Amino acid sequence: MKEGILLIISGPSGVGKGSVIKVLSSHDEVAVSVSATTRKPRAFEKDGVDYFFMSKEEFKENIEKDNIVEYNEYCGNFYGTMKDRLKELLKKHEVVLLEIDVNGAEKVYEKMKCVRVFVLPPSFSELKKRLLKRGSETEEVLKKRLDQAFVEIEKSGRYDYLIVNESVEQTAKYLKEIITAEKLKTFRSIKKIEQLLKERF
Ligand code: 5GP
Repeated sequence: MKEGILLIISGPSGVGKGSVIKVLSSHDEVAVSVSATTRKPRAFEKDGVDYFFMSKEEFKENIEKDNIVEYNEYCGNFYGTMKDRLKELLKKHEVVLLEIDVNGAEKVYEKMKCVRVFVLPPSFSELKKRLLKRGSETEEVLKKRLDQAFVEIEKSGRYDYLIVNESVEQTAKYLKEIITAEKLKTFRSIKKIEQLLKERF
């Protein structure tokens, strides 16, 4: 059986990754990877849907067992991608989306076959406008996110594909086209060549 395509999506905060992923995840062939965290669930969050919630001991055990592909410590809690869960998803679905930052993406790339897409804003002023529109940021947090965006964009040249997010519809369309192109990669159909050659009378 063919293994699914692991599609990493990165991009600065406010660029619109969430909306694009929502469009793509409405397709049956696409699954979105759920991260593990040691943070306590918020009131509306469900285990296995928003995150896999676990204790710090459990998380550390997973690191020791080499079951965490990448992880990050944020505000005193661990967040990471679990290898066994990811492999399970890749067995069941044609495409698995992983929304992750540039550092996480680099770690996954070292360990697994994946396709990396970075979503860029049309301009910095547009990114700032989108973050302001979200209205959830204080001036200080906004500055931090924009500084972080600069750092991430500096590293985006390492990705396989870059998409400037002019609109959610257009970006989702480009991502579907990338998925189609990846499905048609030679290594995915190499057995077909053998089959055809065997058929010769
Ligand atoms: P929150 O507590 O708000 O859900 O997430 C806090 C931070 O952890 C966010 O910046 C989020 O992107 C990051 N995060 C969530 N899941 C993962 C993961 O699997 N790996 C890494 N490296 N960071 C994650």
